[in-house]
Amino acid sequence: MELGHFVGGKRVPGRSGRFGNIFNPATGEVTGKVALANLDELREAVTNAAQAQIGWGATNPQRRARVMMQFVNLLHRDMDKLAEVLSSEHGKTFPDAKGDIVRGLEVAEFCIGAPHLLKGEFTEGAGPGIDMYSMRQPLGVVAGITPFNFPAMIPMWKFCTAIAAGNAFILKPSERNPTVPVMLAELMMEAGLPEGVLNVVNGDKEVVDGILDDPIIQAVGFVGSTPIAEYVYTRGCANGKRVQCFGGAKNHMIIMPDADMDQAVDALIGAGYGAAGERCMAISVAVPVGEDTADRLVEKLAPRVEGLKIGPYTAGDDVDFGPLITPEALSRIKGLVDRGVEQGAKLVVDGRDFKLQGYENGNFMGGCLFDHVTKDMDIYTQEIFGPVLSVVRAKNYDEALDLPMSHEYGNGTAIFTRDGDTARDFASRINIGMVGVNVPIPVPLAYHTFGGWKRSGFGDLNQHGPDGFKFYTRTKTVTARWPSGLKDGAEFVIPTMK
Ligand code: NAD
Repeated sequence: MELGHFVGGKRVPGRSGRFGNIFNPATGEVTGKVALANLDELREAVTNAAQAQIGWGATNPQRRARVMMQFVNLLHRDMDKLAEVLSSEHGKTFPDAKGDIVRGLEVAEFCIGAPHLLKGEFTEGAGPGIDMYSMRQPLGVVAGITPFNFPAMIPMWKFCTAIAAGNAFILKPSERNPTVPVMLAELMMEAGLPEGVLNVVNGDKEVVDGILDDPIIQAVGFVGSTPIAEYVYTRGCANGKRVQCFGGAKNHMIIMPDADMDQAVDALIGAGYGAAGERCMAISVAVPVGEDTADRLVEKLAPRVEGLKIGPYTAGDDVDFGPLITPEALSRIKGLVDRGVEQGAKLVVDGRDFKLQGYENGNFMGGCLFDHVTKDMDIYTQEIFGPVLSVVRAKNYDEALDLPMSHEYGNGTAIFTRDGDTARDFASRINIGMVGVNVPIPVPLAYHTFGGWKRSGFGDLNQHGPDGFKFYTRTKTVTARWPSGLKDGAEFVIPTMK
């Protein structure tokens, strides 16, 4: 299978002559090729989008909302088909793939409220015979650059919001799993979106740089690793664009002595190892407070990590998580585990040698559990993005709080406790964007907003929810005076509230 781009309302073949391989991470087989666009192909898509945006931006918001409504229906209709393709290119389990789609679908549902979200503000009688009103207008052509780990959800966070707000969109999805984004674009067409409003341009750095330098593209929303997020932010801003970039993470979960230990262990198993740890909201550091809490935690966690079921998505519900995305990711993560051992952490459960019969070429690895991890170790400072959980023991609450506070990343965090005072203090003081209280993966729902702090997020405003609409629109404010409020003669001083 050769996947090209989606431009002007249809699939088009790539013309650059450059391709990337698409793999099945469970088997290591090459299942297809994806075209990597050149600058001419990008320019064509952008020109097309600019033309289409004129009509789409002038379409009333309720009609735009109806397209989103129909898109939601089609996502439900094609859920299994999309999830199957998503699992085969990403490796995540079938239920997790459906979750990926549903969390995007929820943003599409939120966007049905576009008419309400785009309503402006009005002040009657701001002065004598003067009315003042502000409106939110689309930016024009905007873009989204998205990572491999949520190939349905994150593209939908971006394009649903931007399109419902009246923009035309260029999506540059991850070249690792590009098929679902193209299928989503087809569904948007079937839902009634005019040709050219949503375009998928597949590619790598060449097309990303092209997007960042393109004078027509007004805004760029990026999600991926922190070094690339910073690069995209810097280059996009230097070119005068509105840019928001969301990067990597190191999410800590604090377990207080009064926490329900069984609940905390369940939470860590799901949040630490689900999707093989390839989630930006995965918990990768557990911080038990007090030696006794730590001993109880590790004692309960170890057999659960050893018992994790790992396999291909085709094995059905009997699998907890699947393979990693690439052999390079697998060897990088195993290398980090080696380094953790070298640097003195205690590897309580070692999943490095995990092998699955019949899937020897898949990127599988077992769950790893480290105890006695310290702040200076690479497994603590770096984002691992794999099925590896590190336990860092803290003497007391203040020491525990200091760990996520002083880490460079600030995406998500959680505290497990029965004590309301401690939970409230934690939620109030922590310098992290998304906080869970007895909730290990506190991903905000579509009508709230998603975004990390510190080096997990660059730029203003969060993703989806009301912030998403703000990011993909700009405000215009009109001051209108009617003849009854006009005085004769020119005025030479700045108007003030008299
Ligand atoms: P990545 O940074 O490798 O790729 C993200 C996008 O950038 C892709 O579309 C890719 O093609 C492009 N890209 C890669 N290298 C580039 C380069 N040198 N120049 C220009 N563009 C380039 O990230 P990934 O491996 O696909 O995704 C995993 C990362 O994303 C993790 O760090 C994870 O924490 C992060 N992530 C963050 C969030 C969030 O909201 N904070 C959500 C999901 C994933």
